[in-house]
Amino acid sequence: MEPYAFYKGDFMPLSEAKMGILTQSLHYGTATFGGIRGNWDSEQERFCLFRLQDHYNRLLFACRILKIDLPYSHQDMCQLTIELVKKSGYRQNVYARPLAYKSSEAIGVKIHGLENDFLIIVTTLPPYLDTSQGVRCCVSSWRRIDDSMIPTKCKVTGTYVNSALAKTEAIENGFDEAILLTQDGHVSEGSGENIFIVINGTLITPPASDNILMGFTRDAVMKLAKNELGVDTVERSVSRSELYLAQECFLTGTATSIAQVVEIDRRPVGNGKTGKITAKLQEIFADIALGRNPRYSDWYTLVYPTQ
Ligand code: PMP
Repeated sequence: MEPYAFYKGDFMPLSEAKMGILTQSLHYGTATFGGIRGNWDSEQERFCLFRLQDHYNRLLFACRILKIDLPYSHQDMCQLTIELVKKSGYRQNVYARPLAYKSSEAIGVKIHGLENDFLIIVTTLPPYLDTSQGVRCCVSSWRRIDDSMIPTKCKVTGTYVNSALAKTEAIENGFDEAILLTQDGHVSEGSGENIFIVINGTLITPPASDNILMGFTRDAVMKLAKNELGVDTVERSVSRSELYLAQECFLTGTATSIAQVVEIDRRPVGNGKTGKITAKLQEIFADIALGRNPRYSDWYTLVYPTQ
């Protein structure tokens, strides 16, 4: 089984999809990507693409900002992703990576007057954060970029230098993940995840104004906490010291799902074990991610592989 791509208007094995080395977006980060999970349900023999439509709304929002005009509609993009998942032949969790990018082979820092293209890769997803032991985080010495520098509400590829610096610093210092603060010292998010804490039974997460990516897992968690556990989420700025006070902390994202944080800056979170609210949300979310709960069918695109 090998990764499959939709590239230059065709479906092909990833190994056949080649790109010119002068491609403008490779040099200047002028592209936007998505990350869509296809969770394989071995009992039902189907994939559940989680929040497929939302992912393409976010991608098209970034395309507006980056002046990327494409000959594909939102519906085309969703349909191409579904077809690619089917063609790939996988029978395990997959990850769809769409990329809309400045495809001109040209030197020059700009976003106007360039050709654009769109590709999708379907591959498997290596485990992102190990949730068997819980995640050990540090507060990064790198600050989260501000929306006035590069738009933070969409996944512009250039932005991820910020995340990559923070992640590698964390790993090289012996942690699993970095938590980035805003310029004014509020907790923003992980390198590729949103963050939640629980203080005295209140679920708290940083607001849009603290330069977070508005994650769909974050959104799902807030809705599940309310509907299934009767717990409201307070969206407010969080200070660094509150991370040390929290009884629970977890990270959310497409690659991660819900990962319990057991230690921050070498201080245990709560009793250093998975918290009660976190554990309940993880359990509920595992079912949702497979598309098994009809109450949340708006979030699912169920794909049955062709035989
Ligand atoms: N923040 C960043 C920087 C991310 O890259 C991601 C992953 N897309 C998230 C948060 C979580 O977003 P989502 O739940 O939509 O995957």
